[in-house]
Amino acid sequence: MDKNSNPVICVFCGSSSGSDPQYAAVARTLGRLIAGRGFSMLYGGGGLGLMGETARAVREGGAHVVGILPDFLRRVEQPPEWEKDLIVTPDLQDRKTRMLTMADAFVVLPGGAGTMDEFFEVVTSASLGVLAKPILVVNTGGYFATLKRLMDHIVREGFARPEILGVYRVVDTPKEAMDAIADELGLLTRK
Ligand code: AMP
Repeated sequence: MDKNSNPVICVFCGSSSGSDPQYAAVARTLGRLIAGRGFSMLYGGGGLGLMGETARAVREGGAHVVGILPDFLRRVEQPPEWEKDLIVTPDLQDRKTRMLTMADAFVVLPGGAGTMDEFFEVVTSASLGVLAKPILVVNTGGYFATLKRLMDHIVREGFARPEILGVYRVVDTPKEAMDAIADELGLLTRK
């Protein structure tokens, strides 16, 4: 993290809104907290689903939003027209590489296969020692209970070392995620 710039929080979440309105509500709460702490948000660049909800809330809070979107998804994921800082990449892999480089911390909200891909990307990178940044999973309505069980199962069956469970943290609320990030990044902000 550049000493003179605000921490960049990369948010991984669904390009859909899910079946329960609490998912969108929690996405908006996270966006407000990111803005309220003077952080900026990095994300997949789309305007739909929880991605759009979070990005709009950050912008409405007056903070900076940067989207990274593969060219072929511009039509599908519909970047908001206000999004001036849209980085267009040739493919999904390049998008993820840039996200991992540009972010200071990662927050995972409920989402689909794309969100899970992003979760495993940062968790495997961290467990292999090529990424050392906070990773927080917000367990909205228990959405990630099955993911927690899968990770425990992977360790129990001997396909990963228990240390992998320590490279990310599962928390219940966006506020806990932001507090953990502030602590890990050594910031004193408390809002
Ligand atoms: P989803 O959680 O499936 O709604 O997707 C969330 C985000 O992940 C969207 O911006 C998708 O474009 C992206 N995504 C989907 N599949 C992949 C993949 N294989 N690798 C990286 N990102 C993906």
